[in-house]
Order: sequence, then structure tokens, then C-alpha cells
Amino acid sequence: MKIHYLCDCCGDPIDILEVEEIDEAKLGFDCLTGEERQEIIRFDAGADAMYVHSLCDFCIEAMGLADPGHNPAGNSLLH
Ligand SMILES: [Zn+2]
Repeated sequence: MKIHYLCDCCGDPIDILEVEEIDEAKLGFDCLTGEERQEIIRFDAGADAMYVHSLCDFCIEAMGLADPGHNPAGNSLLH
């Protein structure tokens, strides 16, 4: 399955990961609430892909969110 990271702000692709199975703890999804997951993660069963909405570096900077403390979801998903 491919995991596509997309910028939620400008729509740019950030990164694509190829994984054999979704390991939520490894991807940092285990610390999201159910609501956050629904907002951030989309599955496309037909394409065997998962789309994760995050923020690209450009938008993080443009929004003044460079301090990781201000955007825990977006930043933790990128590492
Ligand atoms: Zn962006």
C-alpha cells in the first residue's frame, strides 16, 4: 500500500511511502484521536492507497507554524 502525504493547505504532494501494512504506531497515527484521523486520513481502497493530509514546509512556514509545538499533528506525521 502506498501512503501519500499531501499538503492540506496548498494540495502539494509532500511524500509517498510504500508499506506492506499500515503500522499505526510507526506512522504516528496511534496518538491521533478518532476525529483527527477522520480529518487527516483518507483511504482509497480501489487504488490500495492511503492519503494523509499534513502541511508542507512552505505552508508551515507561511502560517508561522515553524515551532513544532504549534502543529503537533502536522509535524509528527512527517517524521
Ligand atoms: Zn503546502
